[in-house]
Amino acid sequence: MTQLTVKGGWLDGAAIRKARKPYRCQYYRGSAAGGFCRKPIPPGAYYVEGEMTDCQQTRNGAFIRDKYCPECAGPEALATIADQGGGA
Ligand SMILES: [Zn+2]
Repeated sequence: MTQLTVKGGWLDGAAIRKARKPYRCQYYRGSAAGGFCRKPIPPGAYYVEGEMTDCQQTRNGAFIRDKYCPECAGPEALATIADQGGGA
C-alpha cells in the first residue's frame, strides 16, 4: 500500500492514514464555536496526520501527531481520499 499524502492546502504533504482504533479529531479550531472538533474517527476510516503534539510521546520516545478528520484537513484531503474510492 502506498502512503497517501494531502496534495495542496494548508496540510500539504501531510500523511493520510487509516484509523486502527477509534479516535477523535483533535483539530483545535474545528467547531463552529471555535473549539475542538472532536468528531469521531471510527476504525477503518481515513484521518490526516496534523501537527506534532507537544506533550504526547510513544514509549519509544517518538512524538505523536494530532489526528484530524478529513473535513478539518480541508477539501484537498477530502479529494485525495475520494480518489481512493471513499475509504474502501
Ligand atoms: Zn475535525
